[in-house]
Amino acid sequence: MEKQCDVCENTLKIDAWGNGTCKKCGWNNDKYSTSYPNAINPPNFISLNQAKRYFKLGKSFLPTYPQFLNLVKRGFDFTFKFEGKKISIISS
Ligand SMILES: [Zn+2]
Repeated sequence: MEKQCDVCENTLKIDAWGNGTCKKCGWNNDKYSTSYPNAINPPNFISLNQAKRYFKLGKSFLPTYPQFLNLVKRGFDFTFKFEGKKISIISS
């Protein structure tokens, strides 16, 4: 099945649950984000409405520092590279 990306309106393939990643803008389309456009739910790290604003401005879909900390508080773990080092943040 296919649908239009909620952010950039590019056509993308979706799975049986209605989920699919847009190859044009990188947004992870899911029904949760469509139903709650101001909520943040991984794998997206910003809300749908924020992603729409960022896309128009040409900004990447990265969370603000407070949004990132909020995701850590909610129990999400992160691994990323910073200055060549692998860094993991794991909630305990
Ligand atoms: Zn898109």
